[in-house]
Amino acid sequence: MVQQPRAGVHYPRSIGEFRSWFGTDADCLDYLAWLRWPEGFVCRGCKHPGAWGTADGRYKCETCGARTSVTAGTLFDRRRTPLTVWFTACWMLASQKDGISALSLQRSLDIGSYPTAWAMLHRLRSVLVRPGRERLTGAVEVDETYIGGEEPGLRGGRAKGKKALVGVAVELKEPRGYGRCRMAILADASAASLHPFVTEHIEPGTTVITDAWMGYTGIEKLGYTRDRRSQRAARARGEDPGELLPGVHRVASLAKRWLLGTHQGSVDEAHLQSYLNEFVFRFNRRGSRSRGLLFYRVLALAVAHDPVRYRDLVINPQPKAAPPRPPGRRGHPPSMDRPRAARPWRAS
Ligand SMILES: [Zn+2]
Repeated sequence: MVQQPRAGVHYPRSIGEFRSWFGTDADCLDYLAWLRWPEGFVCRGCKHPGAWGTADGRYKCETCGARTSVTAGTLFDRRRTPLTVWFTACWMLASQKDGISALSLQRSLDIGSYPTAWAMLHRLRSVLVRPGRERLTGAVEVDETYIGGEEPGLRGGRAKGKKALVGVAVELKEPRGYGRCRMAILADASAASLHPFVTEHIEPGTTVITDAWMGYTGIEKLGYTRDRRSQRAARARGEDPGELLPGVHRVASLAKRWLLGTHQGSVDEAHLQSYLNEFVFRFNRRGSRSRGLLFYRVLALAVAHDPVRYRDLVINPQPKAAPPRPPGRRGHPPSMDRPRAARPWRAS
């Protein structure tokens, strides 16, 4: 990956430039080869540089003779869909403000089946969490929120589904505004779930701003400074207790709106984390000068990522995993309200 990728040189600036760069699968392969080996070919086996081109468009290592292709061992390994379609899907995911749903992708690219379009987007989503990414720093708000749960009912009413509890962390900027965020599904709101969420996503030494919930008790011992905001105290001061943690509420409501809007709420719990990863990826790059730069980042992550098998996308250790089906008609939007009073694990 080049250090300072430039628009129009390293990535397309516009849809017009995108179309002229990537008209054929060979164009796409060239680009992937450059992304994968910016300094020239390096053998995956013996780690030596230098290769001969073979008649079938692959590479033969000059040192050990191993044959490989540009896409072998990457996200695009053994793909059946043409690379031009992959690139267009990636462009839509990266360049559109809200990304794209599997249904719109299937329709706009004339992809044969919904599961194919669905799996392409999920494969692209699975590369969005960069290994070794830096944890949040400075002052960070942390809270939990419920996502999902109310689904359009089949018999007139609304069926009450299961809500997923999601941890949200957001960096606060001085004097105002927000930095990066993180979102992760939590098993519950106990200390046993919240402490690992904090240590995984926030750098020790950071000031962690929370409400008075006891699940955060003890994070000081893990190297954090806790800034505990009390709802009761806010109420006593005549302030709105719902605005104690404005950053996490902002991020949570944007994420919920995106899931309901772009994806029409058709996100099952087993795949929710991967949608949250896409939301976080886009949120954390919202100041990016160019959408083409996001396209470049996604492809660079994809050529550095191991292949993702279809069965890994569909079969999931979580209980609700199921094969994808297109969303039905839009239901009533679930309430955006965070069910503050409903922390069922609280001992009563
Ligand atoms: Zn070799």
